[in-house]
Amino acid sequence: MFENLSERLSGVFDRLTKQGALSEEDVKTALREVRVALLEADVSLPVARDFVKAVQDKATGQAVTKSITPGQQVVKIVHDTLIDVLRGEGEPGSLKIDNAPAPILMVGLQGSGKTTTTAKLAKRLKDRDGKRVLMASLDVNRPAAMEQLAILGVQIGVDTLPIVKGENPVQIAKRAKTQAAMGGYDVYMLDTAGRLSIDEELMQQVEAVRDVSNPRETLLVVDGLTGQDAVQTAENFNDRIGISGVVLTRMDGDGRGGAALSMRAVTGKPIKFVGLGEKMDALETFEPERIAGRILGMGDIVALVEKAQETIEAEQAEKMMRRMAKGQFNMNDLKMQLEQMLKMGGMQGMMGMMPGMGKMAKQVEEAGFDDKVLKRQIALIQSMTKKERANPALLQASRKKRIAKGAGLEVSELNKLMKMQRQMSDMMKKMGKGGMLKQAMKGMM
Ligand code: GDP
Repeated sequence: MFENLSERLSGVFDRLTKQGALSEEDVKTALREVRVALLEADVSLPVARDFVKAVQDKATGQAVTKSITPGQQVVKIVHDTLIDVLRGEGEPGSLKIDNAPAPILMVGLQGSGKTTTTAKLAKRLKDRDGKRVLMASLDVNRPAAMEQLAILGVQIGVDTLPIVKGENPVQIAKRAKTQAAMGGYDVYMLDTAGRLSIDEELMQQVEAVRDVSNPRETLLVVDGLTGQDAVQTAENFNDRIGISGVVLTRMDGDGRGGAALSMRAVTGKPIKFVGLGEKMDALETFEPERIAGRILGMGDIVALVEKAQETIEAEQAEKMMRRMAKGQFNMNDLKMQLEQMLKMGGMQGMMGMMPGMGKMAKQVEEAGFDDKVLKRQIALIQSMTKKERANPALLQASRKKRIAKGAGLEVSELNKLMKMQRQMSDMMKKMGKGGMLKQAMKGMM
């Protein structure tokens, strides 16, 4: 019996001897397993389908690395793709809370962990970011919920808005705003009422609160153990209220984490935090790596992936040095360099790191030579055939048109790229002839 995805993939690939590249058939077989495993991990069907497609595109034809098995390599591609899908924009766990007092609206179903999460987040903002926080409960139908927040407030040393009987949620939200402004608070958090399931009244109430408070962040709290239901909840709240992020609770339980992937894919909104227990400090920044490991169901997956990464990089670097020493530099080499630059934060990032280059980095930025340009250049190379990449001399007018069109760009951009490749190639040849690179390589080895 295959326990998890990693074992399954190894099972599929152990039978294969190493070939030059992953064949389409190999990848297909592996991806059938990936799809089943994703569904078992509670990823929804359309998301699993899109995901598998993305992996397939990346994996087919990728060169097999020396010291890891093809199975491990597919695991790595799956892992990296998972992280790509899971990662939101911006710093993980960052919140837009400048312009005090910044309102944070907390929404979700009853029992999802909303009140607990409100307090946990307030504590985090106070302890880690030194913010003054005010919490207010808007759950007028459940006095116990209002008291629960007040008790938690005392426990963590965060103020709560005094409870006034007979007010409706909109009135409480307005009072919280006034109180936060007058009291010099940085942030005020509105813990809205939940229902056991989504209903019209709940949505209207949350909408009304949203409209009076204009929240900087609207965080949806969902129970990570509820799998597909959680995804449905997220979709509904996002459509009606417009959320800015998700907090997944009960990730200390044995849910398999697939809901995280579906939720991210379906709503397009980042998962910002995860709840890992009932205690007030059991809230952590969401880390895609962890969830990816969990979905793959393998404890040491991260170590394995890191090893694979190092091996791949070392092999690439070695190969490139050897080619450069021979004075060779084609489009594949250029692509590798561009990708390397992109990884290091683009031209600006690289220059920013070098002393005295800050000013030049700015000029580069002004010239429009940034990550976007790098990505366009890579897209152009990707639009070339294998033969064309290996031998750029083939690139005549009609091929150039096709390539530019394939990348959705102008031929003039392709011309610039070709000029760059020619210059690099000339430089390599000169250095190769003079034996400079060979000398340098000797020195390094
Ligand atoms: P609300 O109805 O959405 O406000 O839910 P509560 O905040 O009252 O939480 C319901 C229950 O879930 C409480 O017993 C919490 O202690 C518990 N809870 C909340 N977050 C987590 C979590 O991340 N892990 C675990 N294990 N329990 C949690």
